Amino acid sequence: MGTIAASTLHGYVRENRNLKQRASHAGRRTSGHRTQGGIDLNGTNADSGVAASSASSGSAAAANQATAKQVLADLLAQVGVPGVAGAAPHVGHLVNGAWRPAEGGATFATNAPTDGAHLAAVASGSAADVHAAASAAAEAFGAWRKTSAKERRQVLYRLAELIEQNAEQIALLEVLDTGQPLRFMRQAAARGAENFRFFADRIEGASDGQALPTPDFLNYTRRQPIGPVAVITPWNTPFMLSTWKIAPALAAGCTVVHKPAEWSPLTATLLARLALEAGVPAGVWNVVHGLGESAGKALTEHPAVRAVAFVGESVTGSHIMAQGAPTLKRVHFELGGKNPVVVFDDADLERALDAAVFMIYSLNGERCTSSSRLLVQRGVYEEFTRRLAERAERVVVGDPFDPATEVGPLIHPVHAEKVRSYLALAPQEGARVAAGRHTLPGNYLAPTLLVDATPSMRVAQEEIFGPVLTALPFDDEAEALAIANGVRYGLAGYVWTNDVARAHRFAQGLEVGMVWVNSHNVRHLPTPFGGMKASGIGRDGGDYSFDFYMETQNIAVALGEHPIPRLGK
Ligand code: NAD
Repeated sequence: MGTIAASTLHGYVRENRNLKQRASHAGRRTSGHRTQGGIDLNGTNADSGVAASSASSGSAAAANQATAKQVLADLLAQVGVPGVAGAAPHVGHLVNGAWRPAEGGATFATNAPTDGAHLAAVASGSAADVHAAASAAAEAFGAWRKTSAKERRQVLYRLAELIEQNAEQIALLEVLDTGQPLRFMRQAAARGAENFRFFADRIEGASDGQALPTPDFLNYTRRQPIGPVAVITPWNTPFMLSTWKIAPALAAGCTVVHKPAEWSPLTATLLARLALEAGVPAGVWNVVHGLGESAGKALTEHPAVRAVAFVGESVTGSHIMAQGAPTLKRVHFELGGKNPVVVFDDADLERALDAAVFMIYSLNGERCTSSSRLLVQRGVYEEFTRRLAERAERVVVGDPFDPATEVGPLIHPVHAEKVRSYLALAPQEGARVAAGRHTLPGNYLAPTLLVDATPSMRVAQEEIFGPVLTALPFDDEAEALAIANGVRYGLAGYVWTNDVARAHRFAQGLEVGMVWVNSHNVRHLPTPFGGMKASGIGRDGGDYSFDFYMETQNIAVALGEHPIPRLGK
């Protein structure tokens, strides 16, 4: 499968660091993928046309990595639980306000995407652990739902402050565990804090309803929290996504059992630790680590859990729906995407190019709203894709701890292998690799552009979830819409045109939950976030989140003595 063993990769990196330093001394910068952090990612040698990274950026990366490891050590000192038979402390579950090992002491490892190095052992949850956490959440629900809006707001505000105070630690730990570049992760804490403040500010009105009077009745509705909820998150941007789901749940008055992804469990643990420090009461926020098929499955089946907020792959969503069916779980799914960016020939092509490059190569392409299909009108197709290929070749791939790095390693060897399998498939299907022909080691992938694809190819249909863009030409609006809608997914779409009528018409024709016109993905928290078709069920954001985490109750009060049918009289 081409997976590079950690030891081999270590050797590779060490060897190439030396080569890179020699290149750096020579002071050359030539064409080809630019790399950072002292790693020659071209996979051959320093004379093959790789730009040199500066000594200062390499040392910044090393210093950041050292700090990240210290953050992890500090976290383990706070949440670590003893291993069995003298094993080192490992990351525990959080159940009823206390950190504890899994029943039986089982653990799994989380490894660094950069070089496969072991980072920490983590408690591996079973049905018994899930039961303990769900029971704690059920027990805590009665008191938490009754807290005043003011009390709840104070706790969530305090948490937002703590997140901001720990912003750099959060960013570094996220880089360590996910391989996402530091330049993007430095925004994760700010986004997370904003999520808590945003929903905290709306607690006061969350239970508001409508008055629906008739001459004989006063009907009024009110909302109340649904109960303990499961939050299950993926590995790609775990900190931000955890805050995005948990903030509205707590604001609504629900209690939570969170199951973070097994490939990147660390920042969710740090977040829960900060929540305890902020004063979130015991049992209100529980964390059970573990594998999807065991801990995740048990959580979606637990009778005390009233609803499941899930972010992940579409196929996992189907499993969760089936698992939750016997206990009639309410589900909210944010799933995969194969999002089109559609560029008409009258668009501002410079801005469209910037946005297309950003939306596929930022966050390592491991982004649900990435624009992974590029549809370009035929008259400008050649020029646009040529320029995009040039930009892709210049994207800086390298050590994610280096602030200059734009694309880091993918999360895990298994995922890197999956993405590479599409690169092998593309030429077999008839697509051409216009950028990204270099083979890079380990989990690193060159930002790739596949051109001249046809809509039915698997590279144009399936979610690749890496820095791989598939370009398709189109002739007119009707064809563009047919191609854009001709996939099973329907999360987001991006339209570039200066024709106002066409912009609206095309946007309204797209079978996606979110459309950006002449823009990349810019999030406004009150707006609905979510997908159609295989991309999801339900919407997040603003009041939409409360609709999911709360039940609406109607109360009908008779205003007089209206007639009541008199049976049996
Ligand atoms: P995944 O579906 O493999 O895993 C997500 C979570 O589900 C993990 O915590 C996992 O342990 C758990 N899980 C797996 N099987 C389970 C089961 N049977 N029962 C309960 N839980 C189970 O997804 P991933 O690979 O971690 O993440 C990548 C996917 O997430 C991509 O498809 C991406 O598009 C999607 N995603 C969507 C959004 C969105 O907002 N639409 C955001 C981020 C990521």
